[in-house]
Amino acid sequence: MTVRTRFAPSPTGFLHLGSLRAALYAYLFARKNDGVFMLRIEDTDQNRYVEGATEMIYRTLREIGMSWDEGPDVGGEFGPYIQSERMALYLPYAEQLVREGKAYYCFCTKDELDERRAAVEAAGGTFKYDGKCSQIPYEEAIERVKSGEPYVIRQKMPKSGEASFDDLIYGHITAPCSELDDMVLIKADGMPTYNFANVIDDHTMQITHVMRGNEYLASTPKYNLLYEAFGWEKPVYIHMPQIMRDAHKKLSKRDGDANYEDFTQKGYLKEAIINYVALLGWNPGDEREFFTLPELVEAFSLEGLSKSPAIFDPEKLLWMNAEYIRRLSPEEFDKYARLWYESCGAGKFDPAILTRILQPRVEIFSQIPGMIDFLTDFDPDYPLELFTNKKSKTDPAVSLSVLDMALPALSALPEFTETAVHDTLLDLARDAGLKNGTMLWPVRIALAGKQVTPGGAIEIAVLLEKDESLRRLNIARQRLSM
Ligand code: GLU
Repeated sequence: MTVRTRFAPSPTGFLHLGSLRAALYAYLFARKNDGVFMLRIEDTDQNRYVEGATEMIYRTLREIGMSWDEGPDVGGEFGPYIQSERMALYLPYAEQLVREGKAYYCFCTKDELDERRAAVEAAGGTFKYDGKCSQIPYEEAIERVKSGEPYVIRQKMPKSGEASFDDLIYGHITAPCSELDDMVLIKADGMPTYNFANVIDDHTMQITHVMRGNEYLASTPKYNLLYEAFGWEKPVYIHMPQIMRDAHKKLSKRDGDANYEDFTQKGYLKEAIINYVALLGWNPGDEREFFTLPELVEAFSLEGLSKSPAIFDPEKLLWMNAEYIRRLSPEEFDKYARLWYESCGAGKFDPAILTRILQPRVEIFSQIPGMIDFLTDFDPDYPLELFTNKKSKTDPAVSLSVLDMALPALSALPEFTETAVHDTLLDLARDAGLKNGTMLWPVRIALAGKQVTPGGAIEIAVLLEKDESLRRLNIARQRLSM
């Protein structure tokens, strides 16, 4: 048997990390087993449709490196792979069930249903369809349909007993049939309901393993009754625990930071996101933490999936992202960082120095503007206490004498290179019998106007270049001498 899995997103405009994980596991499982991974767009609910959302899904999966063997854009023998293009396909299946007495036409109007619902609720109950139209003889129902009376098609649920199925993660799940509503399969406009289309598609596309979030666990007994009504073989179900913000709350769009794009826009690397998401609910059975996509394919197995809720740990993701950033080549780092340099006007500075000082420190690329703001946005009124540092044995008075030495020496330099600036400042320190730190601290404060900077005095001076460095050093000397 060929393993066939699918990712079946609804095009809502976002890729929640939970959906991304469902896609990833379905992809990994298919690839690991030399199976087929398919993309199906579930857009039965046109009200939720967001322009461009389908393209966003393609783009994102491609960017991550997940390829699909069948799908709307690549075709395949079970297409079309967009539900809205399959609409003609569903009604005949529902009609088949009606003929076999497993579903029925329901002519109850919305007003009638509302009235009955209100009555049940007024009495403190929960309304579920009362089966009224299931009593209508088939021939009579067909006549009413032919005469143009509006109808829906409902599935006839067993009135007693249990509906059950086996889930690979959650085990044997049962639901008393008495609690199941006679679910609508075809709506009044002739279109399938989401649930019906999902089952018909999984069957007709020969899906062998259904992998999705556990929010579908409760509907699955109903899905199974459909498989049974048709006499179809059921897929293997693998429902995954939700990704949680904490022990009580799901990771939700409302809290921000729940969608893949939230993270890429902040400058997380896709490799880190995928690696982290893969480990939310799956573990490789050993201590390994870093996986490329091909390594995940190699390591993935259903046994590693966990039943306990996966708690999203932003600190861990940050740590992992920082690790991925360290592993980039300088060229790759520059490629990602450039966007952020441009965003804060730092595009003109020497990228090689920026990479050298930033790559070891940056955890996410969006931190870059805040780390190098002093290059472009210098505030000359920084507090003079910044010149005081015990370890470097400096204070404003020492700093003034240091700058008195450094300024003429640096302004005399014909070439303002790292070597030249380095040798000049350290020679001065040696000749004056000062610790290097006593020389470099005041220079760095004067150049940056802040205490915490990536890179030291020499790197910052060379980044700023000679004129701007001398200007800032002069400002400091003037302020310190007042
Ligand atoms: N369309 C559903 C979603 O986006 C997927 C349901 C399924 O995988 O069966 O959540």
